[in-house]
Amino acid sequence: MRFASRHRLRVTTSRRPNPGDLALDLTALKGITISGYTAEVQAGATWAELDAATQAHGLATPGPRLSRATVAGAVLGRAQGWLTPLHGTTADNLVHAECIAADGRLVTGEPQGVITSVRLKLHPLGHKVYGGVLLYRLADAPAALGVLGELASRGREFAGLAAYVTAPPERFVPGDLVGRRVLAVVPAFMGDPVIGASYARPLRVKARPLVDQARPLPYVEQQSLFDRYVPHDLRCGTSEVSALTPELLRHFEDTSTALRVLVPNRSGWTVHEGEQ
Ligand SMILES: Cc1cc2nc3c(=O)[nH]c(=O)nc-3n(C[C@H](O)[C@H](O)[C@H](O)COP(=O)(O)OP(=O)(O)OC[C@H]3O[C@@H](n4cnc5c(N)ncnc54)[C@H](O)[C@@H]3O)c2cc1C
Repeated sequence: MRFASRHRLRVTTSRRPNPGDLALDLTALKGITISGYTAEVQAGATWAELDAATQAHGLATPGPRLSRATVAGAVLGRAQGWLTPLHGTTADNLVHAECIAADGRLVTGEPQGVITSVRLKLHPLGHKVYGGVLLYRLADAPAALGVLGELASRGREFAGLAAYVTAPPERFVPGDLVGRRVLAVVPAFMGDPVIGASYARPLRVKARPLVDQARPLPYVEQQSLFDRYVPHDLRCGTSEVSALTPELLRHFEDTSTALRVLVPNRSGWTVHEGEQ
């Protein structure tokens, strides 16, 4: 860091540095220590590695739904995930960060310079939650989204979301659906899976799913649900809307490749849009 300051070089931890940057590879910093309700996590640990370590103690902390993301990236990006309605963003759970400042000093406190480790608060969470996915034809999307919005206002353990996607060639997807645009709904319930199943019921009764893969499953499996389907370098734009109008839904349907993720919140919906 001192060398970079002296030579006015930009320091990056990115896996794709720009020409002229001084790139620091932190991927070997993987230490994770759980102590009571906190975890000390080195900056190169991935979210999947942290989840495995915390779940071994029946604990977890909110992070992105992207198992390859690093904890430092998630803290700085204020990542949100399945546990956010209950416990906030990753940044909300930061106790402190250990960083190397621009002048090369090792400092502890708010993130600055290069983060080498973070201490995060942990929360009790059983090994099994309710999750998985339901697929609907586009004509049934308004009904399914209406139910999803209602469920989100019922309790903070429910962290469901929906996504307009292209149906993947999976064993559980009927052949005539593969490659067609569908609405995927993830009825995520971060608590007792039996209660989670009762939350998911209106999604089966008030709208008719074409594919039903919603089920009790390990939290770590729920966390990596999207890994196979979404490129890890996907760049998303995020916006907030107060209501899903028919015009907006037509806009979401109106493309063959874009991924549009709709997350219900207290005042409407957060929309993430990116090219698949
Ligand atoms: C498929 C996919 C799904 C996603 N799902 C979610 C989701 O559900 N919720 C959500 O909130 N986000 C989500 N994201 C966004 C994701 O949280 C961010 O892309 C996340 O920050 C990625 O972490 P990373 O380790 O790859 O960070 P990077 O992209 O490497 O870094 C992010 C930022 O942090 C900086 N940084 C990284 N490490 C350090 C360090 N050690 N010291 C100082 N600065 C550092 C980088 O310079 C950069 O500015 C998703 C992204 C993808 C591609």
